[in-house]
Amino acid sequence: MTRMKSGNGPSDSDELVVDLPKLQRNTGVPAEISSEWKPDSVRATHSNAILMQVEISLEAVSDRITALGTAILHWTAQCRRCLEATSGSTSIDINEIFEKGASEGETFELPLGEKLDLRPMLAEQAMLNLPVAALCSKSCTGPIDTEFLTNSSPSNTGENPEEFKDPRWDVLDQLKFSDD
Ligand SMILES: [Zn+2]
Repeated sequence: MTRMKSGNGPSDSDELVVDLPKLQRNTGVPAEISSEWKPDSVRATHSNAILMQVEISLEAVSDRITALGTAILHWTAQCRRCLEATSGSTSIDINEIFEKGASEGETFELPLGEKLDLRPMLAEQAMLNLPVAALCSKSCTGPIDTEFLTNSSPSNTGENPEEFKDPRWDVLDQLKFSDD
């Protein structure tokens, strides 16, 4: 990946902070944003966002700003079966609206100042698209000694009750369906 920037200098992801007056002067003329961003603080229980490659078209439409494009989210995660580190990428469709008095969960608030920072919106997209239960490969069968998992990895219990269920409970499951 030759396009990947090294370091995290002040110029990194500057393209993601957009000049609003300029955009609003050119109503109907989309501004193309192409950038890479390292969302350091975006992580889920078993996965981390590493890099987002962003291709977004921003356009002022009346008093709103529309953001349309794609973000490729690169992540690392812990395989839910063997617990080894794994990585991958997820393509996210971006189709968002920034407006004053945004509706919670539907549109994003347009800031009062002259700068529109796209990163909080992207962080939210990354958060929603991080894998919850990644696999290092579809054929991963996990460690041979599964008892090791239930005994020494408390962070994994409750995540996948089907996989870590004590076989002795099977009897109780059957009872539930035959109590008439
Ligand atoms: Zn695995």
